[in-house]
Amino acid sequence: DHKAMIIDGKAIAQTIRSKIAVEVRNLSQKYDKVPGLAVVIMGSRKDSQSYVSMKRKACAEVGITSVDVDLPENVSQDDLIAKVHKLNVKPDVHGILVQLPLPRHINEEKVLSEISIERDVDGFHSLNIGKLAMKAENLYSFLALPRQDIGNGCLELLSRSGISITGKKAVVVGRSNIVGSPVALLLLQANATVTVVHSHTLDPESIIRQACIIIAAAGQAMMVKGGWIKPGAAIIDVGTNAIDDSRKKSGYRLVGDVDFQEACKVAGWITPVPGGVVGPMTVEMLLKNTLDGAKRVIAK
Ligand code: NDP
Repeated sequence: DHKAMIIDGKAIAQTIRSKIAVEVRNLSQKYDKVPGLAVVIMGSRKDSQSYVSMKRKACAEVGITSVDVDLPENVSQDDLIAKVHKLNVKPDVHGILVQLPLPRHINEEKVLSEISIERDVDGFHSLNIGKLAMKAENLYSFLALPRQDIGNGCLELLSRSGISITGKKAVVVGRSNIVGSPVALLLLQANATVTVVHSHTLDPESIIRQACIIIAAAGQAMMVKGGWIKPGAAIIDVGTNAIDDSRKKSGYRLVGDVDFQEACKVAGWITPVPGGVVGPMTVEMLLKNTLDGAKRVIAK
C-alpha cells in the first residue's frame, strides 16, 4: 500500500525558529540592538486576535521586540494611516504587520501601501507585488516577496523536503491577491512551469492531474480528490476550512482543500491540515522577514 510522505510543517517551523533565535541573539550581542516588529490590530475579531497573539508570542520566543498597537474597531482610516506613518519612522521597528481583514470602512489596499516598503514584512505593498511580477533581479532582499509568510512558507516546505521546483509542472488552485497569485509568481521565479486554476477553469481535474507540484488555495473543503492527483506529486495544502463534526467538542474540525485520506494513497508528499504551511510556517516566515529587515538596517 502506497503512503505519501507527510511534510511536517510544525517540525520544520521549529527548526527555523531555533535558527532565528540564535541569529537574533548574535545580532544583539554584536550591535546591542534587537529587531522589532509592529503588530497592528483593529477591532476584536476572534480569529484575528488569536493570529495576532500567536505572532506576538512567537516574537517573544525568539527575542524580537513586539511593538503592540491595538486599535478599536471605529478608528478612522486617516488615523490608522497616521499610526502607520509613525511606525514607518520609529527607529526600533524593522517590520510592520497590519492584521487583515480590516473593518469595512477601511480601504485595505490604501493602508497597506502606506507601509514603508522596507518594513513591509507581509509583502502586500503593491510595489512589492509589482516587483515580483516583473521578475526584478534586485528585490529588496527577502522583503519584496508578496505575502511571503504564506508563499515562501510553501516554497520552504518543498525545499526542506528535498523537492526540486526547477523545470517542474506546478498547478496553483486559487488566484487571490493574498495567496494564489503570489504563490504562482514565486513558483515561476523558482523556474517551475505554472498553471493557475480558478473558479472559471474548465475541467480543473485534468489540469491538476498533470502537476508534479500542487498548491491548493481555493478555500473549498476536500475539493481535490485522489483521482485528480498524479502519482508521486508533491502537495502543499494551504486551504483551511471548518466543516461540521459532531464528534468534536467545538462542533467542527479543520480540513484542507485536498481530500487527505485519498491523496495519501497517491501523492509522493503532502502537508496535513492543520500543521502544514498555515500556522506554524507562516509565523516563521514573518519572523525571518523581520530579522532580515533588521539586519539590513542595524548592520549598516
Ligand atoms: P479567496 O476566497 O480569496 O480565493 C479563493 C480562490 O480560489 C479564488 O481565486 C477562486 O477563484 C478560487 N476558487 C474558488 N472555488 C474554486 C473551485 N471550485 N475551483 C477552482 N478554484 C476555485 O481565498 P484565499 O486565497 O484568501 O484563501 C484560500 C485558502 O487559504 C482558504 O482555505 C483560506 O482559509 C486559506 N488561507 C487564507 C489566508 C489568508 O490570509 N487569506 C491565510 C491562510 C490560509 P476566482 O478568482 O475565480 O473567484
